[in-house]
Amino acid sequence: NIMRDNIENILQKEEFDFKDIVALLQAEGKEQKLLFAKAQEVQLKHVGKKVFFRGLIEFSNVCSKNCYYCGIRKDNKKVDRYNLNDEEIIAAARFAHENKYASLVLQSGERSDQHFIERVDELLQKIKEITHNEIGITISLGEQSDETYRRWFRSGAHRYLLRIETTNEVLYKQIHPEDDEHDFENRLRCLNAIKEIGYQTGTGVMVGLPWQTYADLANDLLFMKKMDIDMCGMGPYVEHHDTPLFENKDILWPIKTRFSVTLNMIAVLRILMKDINIAAATALQAIDPMGREKALRVGANVIMPNITPSTHRKDYQLYQNKPCIDEGADDCGDCLSLRIEMAGREVGLGEWGDSKHFLNRK
Ligand code: SAM
Ligand code: SF4
Repeated sequence: NIMRDNIENILQKEEFDFKDIVALLQAEGKEQKLLFAKAQEVQLKHVGKKVFFRGLIEFSNVCSKNCYYCGIRKDNKKVDRYNLNDEEIIAAARFAHENKYASLVLQSGERSDQHFIERVDELLQKIKEITHNEIGITISLGEQSDETYRRWFRSGAHRYLLRIETTNEVLYKQIHPEDDEHDFENRLRCLNAIKEIGYQTGTGVMVGLPWQTYADLANDLLFMKKMDIDMCGMGPYVEHHDTPLFENKDILWPIKTRFSVTLNMIAVLRILMKDINIAAATALQAIDPMGREKALRVGANVIMPNITPSTHRKDYQLYQNKPCIDEGADDCGDCLSLRIEMAGREVGLGEWGDSKHFLNRK
């Protein structure tokens, strides 16, 4: 079997080139098992068995943007908009702290009005205060000015997640409106600013977008390597019927392929960037109930249990079949710990779980 020899040979190389990555991303069956075994070996050697919890607080679905793939885009009038109040956010942060979650992720729709900027600033300071600076804070609040990024960094956020979504600029244009607010160059400017300011920098892509190719995905991984990122969160694209991208439903990748190729992306990235943090994205679970646990076995070492108060969870539907929208935060935490142990991993409680890559660079 020529194909199997190929994958075997590729996996023995010190460095993968573009063509190697394209081949690895298409691995299925026995070839895929070889890829996963190698990724698992690298994971255990460089980041160990530990999996870190990031309590995810989706504090508002109000968004000023119109990304064509996203269920909470501004022009989707079917969404009930919410904005958690300070007490609700603080209560969720307290929950994470008391349950020894390593860190928090504050995420919301994108807004850049002054009121929002100041509010986030104050929230960051409050959370730092009530948790006695014992909890790490990641933010994922989209594209902002350099000044805003700097301000939030000073107030206590020390990691930032901003997915590049795709590094193919043509595809980027196909999945976003063509205006200044959705400009690829600006997204790059943001990622560079985030890194420059000193955040642990996280990016990622959606896997299996309409028109996306294996070559695009290989370029995405090479981009991450070149950017020398500290963290990555990537998940399958999952369609939402009230979005413009759904009009292209005839050219969707089969759902199983999106899932399987996402695992391949995680595995290849783990081999390419041995000591970064890689999240098992929630969207994996929308396709397979054990999706995130499968990702933990092939390279991912971070999981983001949703700790948003359940009353609002149903309104933060980026895609269809979003899991756990009826559950309280503690159900999620408990069932998760069990499942992590079943996946042969340990929960890294009470530690920030910073990116080793970031620490090693210092
Ligand atoms: N508004 C911020 C931003 O865009 O960076 C943070 C929140 S946004 C909802 C977080 C991520 O959700 C995006 O980076 C995107 O990759 C992902 N997302 C949105 N719609 C999706 C979909 N239909 N399927 C999979 N992921 C999706
Ligand atoms: Fe808004 Fe983020 Fe969704 Fe784009 S992906 S519409 S910025 S929430």
